[in-house]
Amino acid sequence: MEKHLATRAARLDETHLHGEAPRPEVTPIYQSSVYRFDDTCDVLEYYEAKPNGRYLYGRNGHPNSTVLENALAALENASGAVSAASGMGAISAAVLSVCAAGDHVILSQDIYGGTLVLLRTVLARFGVSMSLLDLTDEPTLKRALERKTKLVIGESIANPLLTILDIAKTAEICHRFGALLMIDNTFATPALITPLSLGADIVVHSTTKYMGGHSDVSGGVVCANDPLIEEIRQTSVAIGTAQTPFDAWLVARGVKTLSLRVEKQCENATKLAAFLVALSCCEVIHPSLATHPGHELAKHQFHNRYGAMLSIRVPDDLVIVDEIMHRLPSIPFAPSLAGVTTTLSHPYTTSHRGFTEEERSAFGITRGLIRISVGIEDIADLTSEFAEALAPLKRSEA
Ligand SMILES: *Cc1c(COP(=O)(O)O)cnc(C)c1O
Repeated sequence: MEKHLATRAARLDETHLHGEAPRPEVTPIYQSSVYRFDDTCDVLEYYEAKPNGRYLYGRNGHPNSTVLENALAALENASGAVSAASGMGAISAAVLSVCAAGDHVILSQDIYGGTLVLLRTVLARFGVSMSLLDLTDEPTLKRALERKTKLVIGESIANPLLTILDIAKTAEICHRFGALLMIDNTFATPALITPLSLGADIVVHSTTKYMGGHSDVSGGVVCANDPLIEEIRQTSVAIGTAQTPFDAWLVARGVKTLSLRVEKQCENATKLAAFLVALSCCEVIHPSLATHPGHELAKHQFHNRYGAMLSIRVPDDLVIVDEIMHRLPSIPFAPSLAGVTTTLSHPYTTSHRGFTEEERSAFGITRGLIRISVGIEDIADLTSEFAEALAPLKRSEA
């Protein structure tokens, strides 16, 4: 007997496709929060053997997270990866896997603001202490490493002064003191460097940035070797940081063009930096410039590429900063980075709000600091737009 409308409508997934299964060219989006089992034997086999291609429940993983994680683990030279709904989700899963009450964590003084807030306000309540210091200063790092230091967190290229960390040297020092080194590789990406190959223990990314690359998805990933990555996977399932199938699919689609985009963005940033120096109307901060303290290290570590983030320092006055923004109508002030279009950010009022006034002034986060995320546009258009926007500074200085 034919079932009633309510039943037929609710069970439409029973209508299987006829004939040969479709063979899509790209991975489809598996928009399902749960998967079917034949019986209790089948579900028990899933729990015991975790056979390839079998899934249970969205928070534990799904085909789109597997595709993305396998791709990112391979790019970062890791045995595994765990994707997350945001960069902070990935960083939280990693830190909560490694740290326990009584442990000490060292953060680079130019760490991402969200990572600072996680340690300073959340983990502090669970008995994890922290210090903020200049990781590139070897004696300071050695003095700060204590017996209870479990983890050191740094960035391959840090925001917004684009500090370059010597990863091999830092990993060696951390290991000598029994600490793990976690590198946030969001700004450099594996197109420039794979920190695990240089001795780091954990790599994290906000895939919201270069991996996704189009400012249309939030995500994060942790990459590490066994058995650590499996512990991080368990923590991620426990705290619920999983990325949705659609978002994982979007990030995976972005990753396909990572190398093309990053090469072009780095090339544009190097050209724009040289152009702005020649304009001589403000301080220009980019590792391609011989004046940058990380120039030689970047040249060697990133094989003659210098990243696609660039900062300029204009007079310390928010009125002047706003005027520059208004004179750049095609370059939006959008406090994120790494999309295909060039954008501006203002660290003092956005990414570095979590730092105290004293910290900001000690670390050089002035009111006049503007960070530029360089896109894939034609360089001639970028140089003429910046020349026009910055020209009045030159006149007022003269
Ligand atoms: C954006 C960012 C994060 C946080 O990532 P979300 O996806 O915003 O949670 C972490 N580290 C760096 C370097 C970032 O730029």
